Amino acid sequence: MIKRKTALKRKPFKAKRSPLKKTSKAHTHGWWMKKTKTDFNKCIRLRDSNKDGMLTCITCGARVHYKEAHAGHYVHTLHFVEINQHGQCARCNKYLSGNLSKYTLYMIDKYGREKVDELHREGHQPHKYLISDFKEMRAGYRQKIKELENLKNG
Ligand SMILES: [Zn+2]
Repeated sequence: MIKRKTALKRKPFKAKRSPLKKTSKAHTHGWWMKKTKTDFNKCIRLRDSNKDGMLTCITCGARVHYKEAHAGHYVHTLHFVEINQHGQCARCNKYLSGNLSKYTLYMIDKYGREKVDELHREGHQPHKYLISDFKEMRAGYRQKIKELENLKNG
């Protein structure tokens, strides 16, 4: 292999992403699930915060801004169920794994024992979602996010 000493011809400028490439690569099921969860979680955090965007962690009472808060699951295997997720601080959600003993008391007080049992049963059922389901769900969540964000001060 002989290396040329002359300067290489410059390639014409090419956009990094051609429109063709963008449309030819469809997002995976995992991508859609992740995005849908992110949007749903944001709905929960917004729902549980006041006009100033502050929410009270349901398991320890800490005050957190919704942007820093978590949408903690009660039954960890159950997703996209409004009464199964509530605003929590990062400490309770992440480091205390949901602070479940306190979470359980909160759930029973708020929704009653029957509803709590129902959530546990639901958590054991397989839930299959198609990409088309995620698209539809996500559109709804994004609409909800807009509505809730409009209710906040700034
Ligand atoms: Zn907390």
